[in-house]
Amino acid sequence: MEISETARRVSPSPTLAIGAKVKQMKAEGIDVVDFASGEPDFDTPQNVKDAAIKAIQAGMTKYTATSGILELKEAICAKLRRDNGLEYAPSQIIVSNGAKHSIYNTVLALCDPGDEAIIPAPYWVSYPEMAKLADGIPVFVRTDETTGFKITPDMLRSAVTPKTKILILNSPSNPTGAVYARSELQEIAGIAVDKGFYVISDEVYEKLVYDGNEHVSIASFNERIKKLTVTINGLSKSHSMTGWRIGYAAAEQEIISAMTRIQDNSTSNPVSFVQKGAVEALNGPQDFTAMMAREFNERRRVIVSGLNAIPGVLCPNPGGAFYVFPNISALLGKTYKVRSITGSDSLAAYLLEEAKVAVIPGSGFGADQNIRLSYAASMENIKKGLERIGEAASKLV
Ligand code: PLP
Repeated sequence: MEISETARRVSPSPTLAIGAKVKQMKAEGIDVVDFASGEPDFDTPQNVKDAAIKAIQAGMTKYTATSGILELKEAICAKLRRDNGLEYAPSQIIVSNGAKHSIYNTVLALCDPGDEAIIPAPYWVSYPEMAKLADGIPVFVRTDETTGFKITPDMLRSAVTPKTKILILNSPSNPTGAVYARSELQEIAGIAVDKGFYVISDEVYEKLVYDGNEHVSIASFNERIKKLTVTINGLSKSHSMTGWRIGYAAAEQEIISAMTRIQDNSTSNPVSFVQKGAVEALNGPQDFTAMMAREFNERRRVIVSGLNAIPGVLCPNPGGAFYVFPNISALLGKTYKVRSITGSDSLAAYLLEEAKVAVIPGSGFGADQNIRLSYAASMENIKKGLERIGEAASKLV
C-alpha cells in the first residue's frame, strides 16, 4: 500500500501523543502529574449541559445547515459585537467542529499550492501542518524571550515575499502565553494592509489574560484590516467545552462561503444539539469564565515562582492562556546515569520516566530550548509536580 505524499508530509501532533501516553500511564495506576494537557480542568457549566440535554429531548438530533443554526450564528455575532467591537452578519459566520476545524477550513479556503503562510514561532503545533495539508509553505519567524515571544514589525516585514498569503497570529499564545498589545497589533495590521495578505487571528484564549493585559481583536481597527482578517474563536477554552467541538470563524462572506463549501463536502454541520449548548454558553451568564480566569491566575503565580526557584530553569511570566514556557537551556548537556539531556525531547522523556511529570517538549512548537507546562491542573498537583521537577533537575550533573 502507498500512503499519499500529503499524508506522509504531515507530522503527528506531539501534544496529543503525550496526552495519550499520560492516559495510558494513569490507567496502569502510575501517579503522573499532568502538565501536558491543553484543556481546562473544570467541568462544563451546568446551564450549558442542560440546554444540550433539552435539545436532545426535544428531538434536535438531525442534520442542521452545514455552517450552523441561525440562532447560534446570531449569538456569535452578538458576542463579537459585545466583546470584540466587531460587526458581522450571520452570513459572515461559520460554525465548525472546534476552532481547529475552522482554522483548517480557512487555510484550505485561502492557500493555493506554493503560497506562503507566515507563522511566528513558537507556534501552536497544528499551524504548520495545516499549511502543508493545503500544499502551502510554512514560513517561520523565530522569536524568543527577548521580544516576549512576539514578532516585531521588522521581523514581519522581512518575512513577507510576493508569495505571502496569510499570517497566522495567536494572541494570547499557545505555547508562550504572549499577549500582543493594541499598538503592536496596529503595526501588524498596517503591514498586512500595505502588503495585502490575510490574517488568521486565532483568539481562543482571549478570556484568559492577566496583569492588566487586554485582548484586542486585530479586525476591529478599520474596514481594510477587517476585510483581510478571519477571526477564529471557540468554546473549548472559554467555557471548558473541549469535547463538545464548537469553534467558529468570522470573515468576509466570500471567504465564509468558500469555507462552507469545504465543510459541506467534508464534515457537514457541527453536532446539532451541541449547537444549542453553545447558544446557552454565549448568551447565558459569563461568570464561569471569569471564575476560571481568576483561578488560573492564582495557579500561574505559583507555577512561575516555583519553576524560577529551580536552578537551570528560567520562566517568564506569561500574560495570558494557561501555559508557561520556561527556558531549560541550562539543563542541556547534563546527564543522569546513562541518560543525556540533549534537547527538550530528552528532558521531557526524563521528567516523564524518572519524575512521573508530563510536560510537552518545546521542539514541537519550534523551540527546543523550552518546555511547555499547562497549569490547568489542581494547585495540589502543581505543587507536587514542581517538587518532582526540582528533585529531577537536581539529580542532573
Ligand atoms: N488554537 C489554539 C492556539 C489552541 O491551543 C487550540 C487547542 O489547543 C485550538 C486552537 C483548538 O481548539 P478547539 O478545541 O476549539 O479545536
